[in-house]
Amino acid sequence: MGRIWLKWLALCLIVAFSLFTRVEGIHGQQPQGLPQLEGGSENKERVRYPVSNFLLQERYPETVVLSGPQSSKMVALTFDDGPDPRFTPQILDILRENGIKATFFLMGSRAEAYPDLVKQIAEDGHIIGNHTYWHPNLVEEKDVHVLQREVVRTEDSLANLIAYRTKLFRAPYGFLNNELVEKLREMNYTAVAWSVDSLDWHESPPDQITYNVVSNLHPGAIILMHDGAAWDEDRTNTVRALRQIIPAIREQGLDFATVPELLNIPYRK
Ligand SMILES: [Zn+2]
Repeated sequence: MGRIWLKWLALCLIVAFSLFTRVEGIHGQQPQGLPQLEGGSENKERVRYPVSNFLLQERYPETVVLSGPQSSKMVALTFDDGPDPRFTPQILDILRENGIKATFFLMGSRAEAYPDLVKQIAEDGHIIGNHTYWHPNLVEEKDVHVLQREVVRTEDSLANLIAYRTKLFRAPYGFLNNELVEKLREMNYTAVAWSVDSLDWHESPPDQITYNVVSNLHPGAIILMHDGAAWDEDRTNTVRALRQIIPAIREQGLDFATVPELLNIPYRK
């Protein structure tokens, strides 16, 4: 009897220890200096509040965009949540090798942490948009002043690095409502949503990410991907998938443009 209890005690200790090290391990992986996503990782937040950007686009056609014209022979690659020293440089390399200009929606806190990466994105000819400072869930915040504060602070940070004031905005998790869109309109911003979601934040295998994009592809598509991640998330499969997605899109007779090129809209104030 005593030996069984001893075994149970040993098992409990092992479980407790492994739980402890797992928690420690997640924090231990935190890249030094990489600001976290305040509203939580894409994985946790995106499933909680699905919002119809379609309805918002219908209601505010001048402020919310989902895609470019169907008559276009172009699509736009967009990358959120960077700059992230783990993945952004790899994505820039692939875009450079393929002669593609894309659109990057940057977090202000990360732009300040990695100014050289921001400058590199701009020098490579990509367009930079505003993805808030701390990546809060703006719908949950229930206060348009949070939006205003986050956008202005990011706009100021970026203006010091790229010599223009951003005019394109992408909401964290894509979460918007009427009030937030009206505030963005008042602030002279265009809210850029997407028409093709790579779902790369699931961290599925590269083949699956490629399938998600190619099977939903259409002329004028705005494609959502992520060059940045939360501390405990990984975008290695995004990088790998991008190498498959680019030739697959070109095989369909489509080429690449930035969001402002695709929509013929300004990206600076
Ligand atoms: Zn994001």
